[in-house]
Amino acid sequence: MLVSTVELFHRAKRAGHLGIKGTEGLSLDWQAVIARKDDIVARWSKGKNAAPAKLGIPVLTGHGKFAGPNEVTVDGRNYSAGKFVIATGSKPARPSIPGAELGITSDELIHLTEQPKHLVIVGGGFIGLEFGFALAAAGSNVTILQSGPQIGAALDDEIRDILLESAKQAGIIISTNVKVKSIGADKTVQAEINGRGEVFSADQVLLATGRPSNVAPLDPQVAGIELDRGAVKVNEYLQSVSAPHVFAVGDAAGKHQHSPVAWYEGPIAAHNALKGNQRRTDFSVFPSAIFTIPAIGQVGLTEKQALSQGLKIKVSKLAYDNNPAAGVRDETEGMVKVVYDEATDKILGVHVIGAHAEDIVQIAAVAIRGGLTKSQVGSMHYVFPTIGGAIFDTMAS
Ligand SMILES: Cc1cc2nc3c(=O)[nH]c(=O)nc-3n(C[C@H](O)[C@H](O)[C@H](O)COP(=O)(O)OP(=O)(O)OC[C@H]3O[C@@H](n4cnc5c(N)ncnc54)[C@H](O)[C@@H]3O)c2cc1C
Repeated sequence: MLVSTVELFHRAKRAGHLGIKGTEGLSLDWQAVIARKDDIVARWSKGKNAAPAKLGIPVLTGHGKFAGPNEVTVDGRNYSAGKFVIATGSKPARPSIPGAELGITSDELIHLTEQPKHLVIVGGGFIGLEFGFALAAAGSNVTILQSGPQIGAALDDEIRDILLESAKQAGIIISTNVKVKSIGADKTVQAEINGRGEVFSADQVLLATGRPSNVAPLDPQVAGIELDRGAVKVNEYLQSVSAPHVFAVGDAAGKHQHSPVAWYEGPIAAHNALKGNQRRTDFSVFPSAIFTIPAIGQVGLTEKQALSQGLKIKVSKLAYDNNPAAGVRDETEGMVKVVYDEATDKILGVHVIGAHAEDIVQIAAVAIRGGLTKSQVGSMHYVFPTIGGAIFDTMAS
């Protein structure tokens, strides 16, 4: 929500050359943006909270934890059951450095009533990047400190290069190989880069250093539930490997931290818990997106992953400025990259950066799931002019 509003703001501000007047004076009302987000979340939650009652499912509110293998307590009241599904999500990690309590996490940033003037983000993963681009587009000065040698470790290298260029254009400073040492009372971040001391000043420090599964507070050991890096260790039926009457879904199962994963796994776990293990999870085709500006969408193997698996591949690429719809919409920054098998022509991976990347990659996911070849997709009819048409043009021989 935050991203879509600031993206619109960002586009509107640079729309003067399209003949739209008054764009120089545009400003963002941060408090109104946050208030609208709160309103939308409240409306969605109201609808979701009403759903169980409509199905006659009682909802107990409070903090639950195991009191025995078949017993939970919810704020002092005890309940027993034959089967359990754990869906307690994840919570943001705070690094163990002096002053970490002075930083904020993404949970808090989305409630800030004042827009940070200078935001230092500790962590260059998807949450750090999304907030970095959003806040920069909203007008904050943003610095991202990444501990490893590169941001967005799972990205295709060429897609990352374009993202880095976009970050530069947006004025985002990205430092890699950073060891954050402490956060001072004035929010100054002390760090070490390649053995050299560095100081970064900020009025807010966002800690975006991962979200471990939120299972430990349930006392899972009481029910014999084994954890793997904090998540319930489950099999392909989402069943605990050590406590067969327990199932886990979403962030608590720790596979992929995405909302549609929780929605996908919930019915599977409930079905298996009630009817026996009949439904397996399948993550063989898994599209995902990062809502940076521009956005990134990816599904399947990157070029590097395919080569490291010893596959003989070919790569087809198309820059967004070859796409007429992107030109018309003044969104020419980006690229579609397709990795396909040299011998069979089967599509192995699609990586997109640019406007609507998150939607384009869904077309690719359907094509991969259907086992389509590059030339089959490249010879399909499509709607013109559309940015989505870029995926068909990339695959046209
Ligand atoms: C900043 C941010 C941006 C994100 N952006 C995206 C995105 O763009 N797209 C996407 O697909 N995913 C995104 N995600 C990830 C997505 O939000 C999660 O993967 C998803 O919410 C996981 O769903 P869940 O049901 O497992 O857990 P949650 O949605 O976290 O729900 C867990 C629930 O369990 C409750 N709970 C916890 N402990 C207890 C207890 N002891 N007793 C009772 N109840 C308890 C909590 O109150 C909560 O209601 C984002 C996450 C973050 C933090």
